[in-house]
Amino acid sequence: MKKIGTSRTIDELGRVVVPKEMRERCGLEPGDRIEFHTEGDKIMLCKFHASCVFCGSTNNVRTALGRQICEDCLLEIKKAE
Ligand SMILES: [Zn+2]
Repeated sequence: MKKIGTSRTIDELGRVVVPKEMRERCGLEPGDRIEFHTEGDKIMLCKFHASCVFCGSTNNVRTALGRQICEDCLLEIKKAE
């Protein structure tokens, strides 16, 4: 994958615009949720993918009682009842 580098200025409220080319390349659209990670002095951001709090799966994840849970874990919990 070709590396893209550019710079932007952070405003007084800490906001920064993600360049359009990078948003398009990563499939980010207005309204999408993103998550931030840090590694040393670097800040990385990526599209947010809900994951199951039990197994980490991102397939068939839904929200129950404010937590994300996949269908498989939900079925396991129901079986245990
Ligand atoms: Zn799960």
